[in-house]
Amino acid sequence: MYLAANVESYFGRGFWSRWLAAVYSTWQGVPEARPTSWFRDPVTNRSVGGHPRSQHLWAGAIDFAIPYAGDHRRDPRALELAQRARREGLVPVVESDHVHIQTFPAS
Ligand SMILES: [Zn+2]
Repeated sequence: MYLAANVESYFGRGFWSRWLAAVYSTWQGVPEARPTSWFRDPVTNRSVGGHPRSQHLWAGAIDFAIPYAGDHRRDPRALELAQRARREGLVPVVESDHVHIQTFPAS
């Protein structure tokens, strides 16, 4: 079980500022992208069908949707967002209706 208050002691000092800076830099390349999900409490996570150990549970993942993009897997702005995330060392997953970006590969 992840507890947000313990994340920095677990992953190291400055984790939150590095993660936020990487997300911000990713987002700057596609400013029309809209965050649709970040931190999820367990009840919300279950209700949206999130993975039981989703990184959303401790705010280590964020979803972006691009207005009027249609299928994000074919949208150049969604693919650009994913590429920028990868360049920042993050782990993007392009879904049909959003781009999921998490801090680490799923374990
Ligand atoms: Zn997600």
